[in-house]
Amino acid sequence: MIEYDFVNTPIVDIVNRIIIYASQHKASDIHFDPREDCMMIRMRMDGRLNDHAKVPKMYEKNLATRVKLISKMNITESRVPQDGAIKGIIDGRELDMRVSALPTNEGEKIVVRLLDYSQSLDGIDTLGFSASNMKKIDRLLEIPNGIILVTGATGTGKSTTTYSMLSALNTEDRNIITVEDPVEMNIEGINQVQVNSEIGLTFANVLRSILRQDPDVILIGEIRDSETAQIAVRAAITGHLVLSTIHTNSALNTIERLLDMDVERYLLSTALNGIVSQKLARTLCPKCKKKRPTTNYEKEIFSQILGQDVKEVYEPVGCDDCNRGYRGRIALHEVLFLTDAIRELINDENTDKEKLRQAVYDGDTTTLLQDGLQKVVEGLTTFKEVYRAVDIDFDLERKIRKEIRAKEKEKGKKENLEVIDFNDEENENVKISEKEIKRIKDRAKKDAEKKYRKKPAIKDNDLIDAFEGLEQTEEDNKDGKKKEDNKDKAKETKEEAKEDKDNKEKKK
Ligand SMILES: [Zn+2]
Repeated sequence: MIEYDFVNTPIVDIVNRIIIYASQHKASDIHFDPREDCMMIRMRMDGRLNDHAKVPKMYEKNLATRVKLISKMNITESRVPQDGAIKGIIDGRELDMRVSALPTNEGEKIVVRLLDYSQSLDGIDTLGFSASNMKKIDRLLEIPNGIILVTGATGTGKSTTTYSMLSALNTEDRNIITVEDPVEMNIEGINQVQVNSEIGLTFANVLRSILRQDPDVILIGEIRDSETAQIAVRAAITGHLVLSTIHTNSALNTIERLLDMDVERYLLSTALNGIVSQKLARTLCPKCKKKRPTTNYEKEIFSQILGQDVKEVYEPVGCDDCNRGYRGRIALHEVLFLTDAIRELINDENTDKEKLRQAVYDGDTTTLLQDGLQKVVEGLTTFKEVYRAVDIDFDLERKIRKEIRAKEKEKGKKENLEVIDFNDEENENVKISEKEIKRIKDRAKKDAEKKYRKKPAIKDNDLIDAFEGLEQTEEDNKDGKKKEDNKDKAKETKEEAKEDKDNKEKKK
């Protein structure tokens, strides 16, 4: 936490310093939280909120007023929500911020969102696309008509990627028009339209007008409803390049969503050129990251998903230059370039999900998980971060888990049937694997005890389930407090069991 000298520093300077700090440390939001005894300033960095500074109660009002003043809000009003913006140059930095004030029971809460699209202007090749994905993006941007969709949840960097593509297309021979809600960054040479549903200026309405403006490239901020989806497809069919975003998890998911939005199959199969799915994972701090051997479980995943034998991975440590071992975020990508085979399947009413899935992933499409794990191998992020970012229920990943399960079962069977001759060189592996299995069983047992307090005995099936939860155990162990809690719980369980026993004996 930073300590500001509120007694000797003018409030104007303090507010400037807070904003400059946020901008320098690439914070996405600054929160001014009124609390009972103080105002807490927090900043969101790499997706997580951190305490920044405490403001003594007596300076709270002045500080809030200053922020509202530079955001061009009504400073005499604090009972209703207000929106504002800060645009200007502070300390040589050009800043673009959106500000919101909300009356709460403790006072007025103000949140400043820093819009930093400087990365979009650095060029699309700085966004962390793998070489093969970058090639596909280049090919996609060369096609003069059709739809390119960028998908992902809120806050996954969709806008940065979309703006980067738009910047790449922004040449003097193209007429580019956007319809956005909100317009997140002003780009020189592009006509940007802000949606305003209050006066009937919806995505669909603006799009109809845009089509009469002789556009080459149209950016639709987001496809939210079927009307917008249908106009987007028709615009693409009639010779325009359409860029847009949609809130889905993966390429496969996106096709299904569009079909659900009543987009005609034959139109979609012709119009859609590519889908870029994206997630964010925190980047390891290059200064303090540390190598460690991969666990068996991780090894299995690397071998199954990447076909690589990965012996070491990096883990976060933490230093003065980073936030608990992480600094910044990197995008994980899945880029689908639509092939004729996929187009045919989309057009075919009888195509089932599995067929489509195979066509999408059996080609040269790298899944989000594969891209993420490759970035773990390269030491950019961690196994845990990728697992947090990529959907665990992902079909492919499910298949892998099933296979691991089968393998484990098989191993168990062999162990029981074979008589081990330790002098036999061929059985050397079995000897090791037996030891390994014992270790896994011990850990799984511990984990199972933690998870199912009333179920101390562990069956074969439980072992597999517990094995899947090993990741969690590791995290728990690192977290000292949780460990203590678990200890206490274990203690309680033992005591309860003892009590039960005692009671039974008394009854007898
Ligand atoms: Zn560090």
